Amino acid sequence: MVSMNVGLTDEQRALKAGVAEIGKRYPGEYWRQLDQERAYPEAFVAELTRAGYLAALIPQEYGGAGLGILEGGLILETINAGGGNAAACHAQMYIMGTVLRHGSEAQKRRYLPKIATGELRLQAFGVTEPNSGSDTTKLQTTALRQGDRYIVNGQKIFISRVLQTDLMLLLARTTPVDQVKRKTDGLSVFLFDLRQAQGLEVRPLRLMMNHSTSALFFDNMEIPAESLIGEEGRGFAYILDGMNAERILVASDSLGDGRWFVEKAVAYSNQRVVFGRPIGTNQGVQFPIAKAHMAVEAAELMRNKAGALFDAGQPCGAEANMAKYLAAEAAWEAANACIDCHGGYGFAEEYDVERKFREARVYKTAPINQNLVMAYVAEHVLGLPRSY
Ligand SMILES: Cc1cc2nc3c(=O)[nH]c(=O)nc-3n(C[C@H](O)[C@H](O)[C@H](O)COP(=O)(O)OP(=O)(O)OC[C@H]3O[C@@H](n4cnc5c(N)ncnc54)[C@H](O)[C@@H]3O)c2cc1C
Repeated sequence: MVSMNVGLTDEQRALKAGVAEIGKRYPGEYWRQLDQERAYPEAFVAELTRAGYLAALIPQEYGGAGLGILEGGLILETINAGGGNAAACHAQMYIMGTVLRHGSEAQKRRYLPKIATGELRLQAFGVTEPNSGSDTTKLQTTALRQGDRYIVNGQKIFISRVLQTDLMLLLARTTPVDQVKRKTDGLSVFLFDLRQAQGLEVRPLRLMMNHSTSALFFDNMEIPAESLIGEEGRGFAYILDGMNAERILVASDSLGDGRWFVEKAVAYSNQRVVFGRPIGTNQGVQFPIAKAHMAVEAAELMRNKAGALFDAGQPCGAEANMAKYLAAEAAWEAANACIDCHGGYGFAEEYDVERKFREARVYKTAPINQNLVMAYVAEHVLGLPRSY
């Protein structure tokens, strides 16, 4: 049986306090300015890396802290709860899991210690394509072996932090879909150095929020054959393996957002006086905030359950998916309660509410949309027929 703590250990509290301390040096003005310029939070990510937080999940033998997924989640949650945006760096925590679980010892020794010190960044993960979307097995980017190299051709869309990373993890088809038994076969994962990539065009996309996201075009891009992670053709399974970690960590981003919105809403509703009394006196104002708080608390329990199972090496697909769903919904509920109680000020940039509102919304859509999480629960947890 896996046991789950209610509340945090002293070590976990200290971890959060350390991250919060760094967060205080990067206040709303810092994130607001970056948001306006659509610029990457270089200074923040560099400080977080120097302090070792982005190497939390890398085992100690490779230079990391060797902490569990829950601790990784607490780091991300604390960043967002302090008003920052962990999306700038969260992917490193889950991408490196694929290298750790399926990479060769040589690949692990070559990359993980340098990722741990910050000498190398692994922040980009290329899966989504314009013509396949959520239907990953239909992706059309190909990587064909020629001697000691793979030649990559195709397109990716919405790939984040490509211009801010050194290394990238890429999913591409190595065997045409009509030559494999199952459509999930014939896909492979590569880890390669973007700085040496010839034949790759990166077109940044301006999105609703500051997310450093680009469209990629591969035109006979050559990568060394040793970029392959694990066995050729087994890449889909490797990516699926990393999904639970991704869901738990992204749920943590949302929990932090939810906490920030609730705190901000409470503070504002207590001090804003209209009709001769604080607006928070009105149940019409306080109930949505109270409801959002309860949703965040409940989602946190599911995130903690998923984290406890993950760290114990137990199956946790259902819990990780449910945590991602519940946390994204809770954050969105809190975002709406917060913008509503702020009236017109919720839309004014200097309050940060509108920025966080935009940032929180993405987790209902990415890295997986809520409909597909519900389809997973319906099929794999409840035993209903597959819907797609
Ligand atoms: C800010 C941002 C950053 C991103 N970063 C990355 C990244 O770094 N790497 C990467 O690989 N991808 C990234 N993505 C892509 C993201 O993972 C996809 O956008 C997401 O998985 C949905 O794919 P899609 O946009 O093609 O939507 P589609 O697959 O076209 O789906 C559109 C909508 O249709 C509905 N839908 C589709 N299929 C079904 C179904 N079977 N049942 C019910 N409803 C369905 C859903 O509501 C869905 O939202 C990012 C996206 C965003 C917005």
